[in-house]
Amino acid sequence: MQFLYTILVFVLLSFGSFGQEITILIDPGHGGSDPGHEAADKNLLPEKDLTLKIALKFGAYLSERLENVTILYTRTDDRYPTLDERVNMANSKNVDYFISVHINGSPNTNIKGTESHVHSMSSKASVNLAKAFENEFKTRAGRKSRGVKDSDDREHSLQVLKFTEMTSVLVECGFMTNVSEANYLNTSEGQDVIASALFRAMRGHLQETHKNISFTKRAVNTANNSKPVASTEKNYSVQIMSSKEWLDTEKGGFKNLKHAVSRTQVSQTGYRYKYFSGTFSSKSEAQNYCNEVKKSGFPDSIVVERKN
Ligand SMILES: [Zn+2]
Repeated sequence: MQFLYTILVFVLLSFGSFGQEITILIDPGHGGSDPGHEAADKNLLPEKDLTLKIALKFGAYLSERLENVTILYTRTDDRYPTLDERVNMANSKNVDYFISVHINGSPNTNIKGTESHVHSMSSKASVNLAKAFENEFKTRAGRKSRGVKDSDDREHSLQVLKFTEMTSVLVECGFMTNVSEANYLNTSEGQDVIASALFRAMRGHLQETHKNISFTKRAVNTANNSKPVASTEKNYSVQIMSSKEWLDTEKGGFKNLKHAVSRTQVSQTGYRYKYFSGTFSSKSEAQNYCNEVKKSGFPDSIVVERKN
């Protein structure tokens, strides 16, 4: 009996705050046939590529650094989910937060700065989170903040904000049409700074709002227990390598891969980082991509199952 009791306590403890998890759906704006705003300089990436890079970095920070959060994306590669599909995903997956990432554009190329949009100023949680994003953009990221705006300011509604049933904010991380901002957002460093501003604001908001949940990562997380967690919705990715040192996923051979590379810290010592590329719903698709990746200079690549 004592033994069973011990097991029960252990099981409960391993679920942290009794299974309470916060789910965040990150929505990289545009994609596929819809490039979004394009930079005047054709050597620079269009909005759809930058929103994806920033969104993936933002999500990686959250899942690497926080406990009890689940990160979902409306897309993780260059495809276009319709606005309805994005809204449906948010409303059907028990999502607590919906964060849409965009980059602005204007006929006036002098205009620059960040904006955080909510549907209505009366949705307090969304407004608070939007303020937190703008505050981080302004202070730590050193951007010009153009403030929090709602549908009255815009004189129109944004579908992904109006119809999502949870706390939702759409961030505009700068202007594609402003030369210096477009250049900045095209650098890996610029994307990192924006993504970490989003991360810090989100972390602060979570800690403030859900005081009963611990978001602090417990220290021990060795390579062995970092196996992807089983879930009813499985997907597959290609684990391309591990490293002892932090490597920039935008540099070197990573750049040549078809799908963006994400980095996950799996332990505190030794081969601390693992690198993944691509998300696939079928194992055979993942295996095909894995074979390609092996030929592109990552011979140790393997297909892994990941939690959706
Ligand atoms: Zn956009």
